[in-house]
Amino acid sequence: MDDLSIEVVSSELQVLIRKGVISMWEKYRQIDPDAHEAFGVLIGSKCIDFAYYHISEITEPKEQDIHSRRSFTLKDPGHQAIVNALFESSGGQLVYLGTWHTHPEPNPHASSIDIKDWKACLKRNKDRQLFFIIVGTEKKALYYFDGEIFNRYEF
Ligand SMILES: [Zn+2]
Repeated sequence: MDDLSIEVVSSELQVLIRKGVISMWEKYRQIDPDAHEAFGVLIGSKCIDFAYYHISEITEPKEQDIHSRRSFTLKDPGHQAIVNALFESSGGQLVYLGTWHTHPEPNPHASSIDIKDWKACLKRNKDRQLFFIIVGTEKKALYYFDGEIFNRYEF
């Protein structure tokens, strides 16, 4: 299990992110002033007995996606194809767990557009807990919805 990086979010909910996923994010950090926003989906599993989530895979920006310095629109069907393929090959263990994107700021905070987008995403996936990760140039932030508020966890 040494390829896992443990991130404790709260006493009731734990999220583990595979180290390989974290290294993938490192290369998309918007350090270059011309670097565009990157976006992808989070894929992982949940322990049956308690709220213990493992983000083991992500999708990366693809050719047909539309992106600029401060926006990103997921257009490429490749993201959904990867989610479907991993669901099949894992016997239903690996599922869609949310999204990630980059911000050109050291310590990233959600914008009002992000919050609006995430609420729409939650409405479409009422059956599961979702996570949203923003990758800044220095830190990353994980958001998850609890009741009426988004909790933010910096790492
Ligand atoms: Zn954002």
